Amino acid sequence: MTLRSRFTLFTVFWLIFILILYNIFVYFFVIRVTTRGELQLLTNKADLVIDNLRKQDMRGLEDPKLLTDLYNYNEMLRIVTGDLRVANQVGTDEELLTIPPQMQPYNLSETRHINGQRVLYLSVPFFDQGHLIGTVEAARRLTVLDSYLQILIGALSVTSVGAIVFAIFGTYWFTSRLTGPIGQMVQTMREIDRSGKLYRVKLNGREESVELQQLVRAFNQMIDRIDRTIEHQKHFVADASHELKTPLTVISSYTDMLKRWGRDNAEVRDEAIEAIAKETERLQHLIRSMLTLAEAEQDDWMNVSRFDVTSVVRELSEVLGKTFRREIRVHSDNAVHMKGDKDKVRQLLLILIDNAIKYSKEPIDLRIRQSKNAIKLEVSDYGIGVPESEIPFMFDRFYRVDEARHRSTGGSGLGLSIAKKIIDIHEGTVDVYSKQGNGTTISIQFPRK
Ligand code: ATP
Ligand code: MG
Repeated sequence: MTLRSRFTLFTVFWLIFILILYNIFVYFFVIRVTTRGELQLLTNKADLVIDNLRKQDMRGLEDPKLLTDLYNYNEMLRIVTGDLRVANQVGTDEELLTIPPQMQPYNLSETRHINGQRVLYLSVPFFDQGHLIGTVEAARRLTVLDSYLQILIGALSVTSVGAIVFAIFGTYWFTSRLTGPIGQMVQTMREIDRSGKLYRVKLNGREESVELQQLVRAFNQMIDRIDRTIEHQKHFVADASHELKTPLTVISSYTDMLKRWGRDNAEVRDEAIEAIAKETERLQHLIRSMLTLAEAEQDDWMNVSRFDVTSVVRELSEVLGKTFRREIRVHSDNAVHMKGDKDKVRQLLLILIDNAIKYSKEPIDLRIRQSKNAIKLEVSDYGIGVPESEIPFMFDRFYRVDEARHRSTGGSGLGLSIAKKIIDIHEGTVDVYSKQGNGTTISIQFPRK
């Protein structure tokens, strides 16, 4: 069922329910009020008859003048005395006259149905010195009242049906306007699915509801994002192919060289083997980095635990210091515990220290500090530095500052983009302070959880 029909059905159902309750209430309220008025009329007449009787000391019960003065054409008035004898009676309506006489020591009033028509019946007793003498009975057809009620029913029906019809069309129109943009979005999605191209939903100027505007905007933002991601991906593939091509070209030309002169010339052989080994290593490094980056796109990349960062830093600096024969100084307070993925943080530090080693010759400083809300890791080197204009791009994939590239350090330019991913999944931030020729400090802050 469409949203539109559901909404319409729901509104109409409730409207009908409310209308039924309202109509029932109005109908019975009107009946009650009007019948009470009629009854009051009859009671007044009976009281007048009894008053007159009292004035003449309860005599002259049969006097026709007693009743004829008060009589109305749609009524019956009579006086009933002992043994249910009708002592006096006026009325032309046969059906009213056939009502059996009644006598009881209390007032009685009720609405009766005679041949399907409503008749109001009233019986008021009168006494003489405490003895029940008789009753004054009055009956009145409620024909006029009933015809008014018919009109009322007609009016209520017409307005109710009108309201329902109006509600059906109104809700239908309203929901059409409401769901219009949704339909437009569905159409756009189908179009995207069909053509494989990314389209944005155009927002109608007359669309007023904020939520729908937000929906359309969110949809378009999502499309923009997908667009950017695809674009990014394309670039990545292009860059990756390019990066893979260079070492492969080198390897293939050296193998050619080996084939031709390798057998006879030991010098050429050694050079070729050396170069091929170096390029293969480079390729391995490149592919490892690319795989890590691809892995980082997955959601369950993180494996959270609580660990001591200081010990990780100390261990790494010792291993790397020995391997590369470099002085790496660690400045830290006691144990600094953080929550995160220990292996990833280790990888992050490795990337930063590796850069510091590659791009400097002086000793390297590692600082670990913690404050109330954050843990700060700093890697400082005093090497070639990065020009200020290049800093914003350092974290891009395959990005290498030209000078570094020329020095052919063998870097793939993926290290810092992996580092950025690791910082991002830990909700951290990174700042780079660098001056060309003076050195670089990369400072990372992780929120403390
Ligand atoms: P990889 O780390 O993948 O082996 P890479 O070191 O070239 O290769 P990144 O670590 O991403 O790549 O660094 C990107 C570029 O930023 C480097 O090529 C280098 O030019 C520059 N850079 C990074 N760290 C430093 C540093 N400490 N000092 C000077 N330049 C740096
Ligand atoms: Mg690097």
